[in-house]
Amino acid sequence: MTEAKPVVVCTWSESQGEFPVGAEEALTLGRKVANALGTRLHWLVLGTLPETGMETAGRFGADGVDQIEDAALEAFSADVYLNALAGYCRQESPMLVVFSQSVETRLVAPRLAGRLEAGVLMNGVDIVAGDDGGLQATASAYGGDTQVVYELSGAACYVFALAANALQAEPAEGGPTQPGCRSISSDLGGVEDRIRVVEEARTEGPRLEDADVIVSGGRGLGGPENYGLIERLAEALGGLAGASRPLVDEGWVDSSQQVGLTGKITRPALYLAAGISGASQHMAGCSAAKTIVAINKDPDAAIFRYARFGIVGDCLEILPELIQAAKQ
Ligand SMILES: Cc1cc2nc3c(=O)[nH]c(=O)nc-3n(C[C@H](O)[C@H](O)[C@H](O)COP(=O)(O)OP(=O)(O)OC[C@H]3O[C@@H](n4cnc5c(N)ncnc54)[C@H](O)[C@@H]3O)c2cc1C
Repeated sequence: MTEAKPVVVCTWSESQGEFPVGAEEALTLGRKVANALGTRLHWLVLGTLPETGMETAGRFGADGVDQIEDAALEAFSADVYLNALAGYCRQESPMLVVFSQSVETRLVAPRLAGRLEAGVLMNGVDIVAGDDGGLQATASAYGGDTQVVYELSGAACYVFALAANALQAEPAEGGPTQPGCRSISSDLGGVEDRIRVVEEARTEGPRLEDADVIVSGGRGLGGPENYGLIERLAEALGGLAGASRPLVDEGWVDSSQQVGLTGKITRPALYLAAGISGASQHMAGCSAAKTIVAINKDPDAAIFRYARFGIVGDCLEILPELIQAAKQ
């Protein structure tokens, strides 16, 4: 009897040895699919395995950890990573390769699918097994306005990029596994890097993605001179200041402060939105917050559908009072 093809979760770290962002969520999904299909789950790590890697692999139910360590993988290069991955997939024939979606995996996942003649789905939210044993994958579409369910059939392999915050990481039921670790060799010498970084994104200081408290302002602030209210409240609460996209487009704030589908995907304990309507593209970046507080003068604003606490009123009057209260 031929062995069922494995499910592979592929990750790499932004800086070598660091725990890869989204790995636990991707492993959670990979485990679920592997269980449903009665097959093995492998975690493929490109570059250095993080210190807690084997423990994490066991906790999330991986049957094996495969590692490709090569000097060429030390810094991200779409072409080099793609070659390493394509070589591995040709050797191991996975039925599903799961990535955690990021700027880098956006560059690699579709090209990997092209090389393998695999089906590819980006902005993935979930995969479930149907009664007939087939897989159904859900992905968000139209800038996050809707979700589409796809039947995965007709290809020998699928590449799936799981969107940030799409699901909660959950350790495998039934306790940890004891995965083995294989070192996989890959010939990466002479792979030409066809994408060159001309300017690094600014990354100094704390990141919105890691913040516990975020205070964000939207067009309801009326003008750039009022954005200081957002910054002062964020500071008083020990958090960071964010913004909706129009504020970035208008040049009021730096693009690193944009929350949303085309900005930062955040998961704070508290997200306070002032003068933000609650468009789906904005909410894609903050709806995973534990508590959303909204200030909007329109009682029918969409943001109130997401908010745990809503204040109907003028944010230019309410924000100074909140700043004073937070300072006390
Ligand atoms: C492909 C695509 C990607 C996008 N990506 C993003 C993204 O990443 N992030 C993002 O934010 N947007 C994104 N957008 C834009 C998004 O659709 C909305 O246009 C945007 O989020 C609206 O920003 P806003 O809520 O600040 O402004 P508006 O929609 O103009 O809302 C302003 C709100 O402020 C309220 N208000 C006005 N005055 C006051 C006051 N004095 N006090 C209190 N409330 C007041 C109004 O009632 C209104 O609800 C994207 C759009 C597309 C098509």
